[in-house]
Amino acid sequence: VTAPELEKRVTSAVDAQMALVERFFSDLRVGTRDGEGVTRASYGAGEQLAHDVMRQIAVTNNLEISTDAAGNLYATLPGRDRQAPRWISGSHLDSVPQGGNYDGAAGAIAALAALVALKDLGFQPARDLTAMAIRAEECSSWFSGHHGGHLGSRAALGLLKPDELQTAIHVSTGQTLGQSIAESGFDVEAVRRGPAFLSPRNVQGFIELHIEQGPVLVHDKLSIGIVTSIRGTLRAREACCIGAYSHSGAVPQELRQDAVLAVAELIHRLDEACTRVRSDGNDIVFTVGKIHTDAKVDSLSKVPGEVRFTIDVRSQEIAILTQVSALLDEFSKEIAVKRNVRFELGRRTLSEPTLMDRSWRSHLITGASRLGIVARELPCGAGHDAADFVRAHIPSCMIFVRNTGDSHNPSEHMELSDFRDGLRLLTWFLATVSVREA
Ligand SMILES: [Zn+2]
Repeated sequence: VTAPELEKRVTSAVDAQMALVERFFSDLRVGTRDGEGVTRASYGAGEQLAHDVMRQIAVTNNLEISTDAAGNLYATLPGRDRQAPRWISGSHLDSVPQGGNYDGAAGAIAALAALVALKDLGFQPARDLTAMAIRAEECSSWFSGHHGGHLGSRAALGLLKPDELQTAIHVSTGQTLGQSIAESGFDVEAVRRGPAFLSPRNVQGFIELHIEQGPVLVHDKLSIGIVTSIRGTLRAREACCIGAYSHSGAVPQELRQDAVLAVAELIHRLDEACTRVRSDGNDIVFTVGKIHTDAKVDSLSKVPGEVRFTIDVRSQEIAILTQVSALLDEFSKEIAVKRNVRFELGRRTLSEPTLMDRSWRSHLITGASRLGIVARELPCGAGHDAADFVRAHIPSCMIFVRNTGDSHNPSEHMELSDFRDGLRLLTWFLATVSVREA
């Protein structure tokens, strides 16, 4: 087919899938509703329901179905050369507690709807095209203990360390990751053993559509965007400051070991340091998302003897994250001496920023303009499975769809017309990258 003909056919084939897409979102919303939002725990009932809905659509549309040892689901439109490395598109089907219905799910159904649209067009790709529904991307909400995040994609890519199967603990069931995988009916021994299900030898590239988690596209009045890079993170999940409980009236200020004031000073100094980094023109954001005294012991009239807190720092530059990690050590040592407390910052994880593939990014820009969609490039502040594909040396790219609400929140909102623009671009992309013979 000639190029303008392709764009026309892709557009109408995608529009014909919008009923399927709407039904998918509504099945998920009804099936996993929790208060105003939805809850789909990693390796929990909600995530499983979403996988079942996705699998049913793939069965109905005669796509090939498989799962890997960690329970990620694959639906494939077979190519002419079954041995050629395939293209994969997909996203996760779990959510944060009481999150939005589109985070993750939009990218999973987009991948599947794109394949159904291409199949309905009678399109046979040169290589396999696969829609992937990924497990446990939101695992930082569902698994405590030590783990490196993005458990489903990292298991598929061989990046999950065997230790993590024991050290990641499900917050609702108390089971280890290994037990959770086994309990869900998957093969934890095969996850441990390897080899990786996905690798550069059998995957040519990965593309993920995802709802934007910031306000950039709303601000720019654009339906979709193309991601340049994903910020890296520096995280302390289980930081703690130990002081001493004492009477809030009887003990003079200078004799106290006040953990709250010590942590407050640490946060303030880190915030000042991050502000300096930004004013030097560098990229950084800093969050203390959890901070609490022990409700069993604390009291209005006690000097607080213990505070637990988290630290989450993100940047597009690894050097900045390393620098902040060093400042964290320096500041906590100084404050510990000054305030007679002890900091136990716990295990710190550092994940590197990841660059989306330049040539596939520019292919997406070409596609958007051929389809008459105005899109911009933008950096991504949140972690995504696409970053793990990059770490596994599989070229990857991402499409963002405008979010008119908030993220990780019931107020998350996506207009279906915006999603349709993203789906048109994704379908065009998969059609054009898979016509070339291997
Ligand atoms: Zn997500």
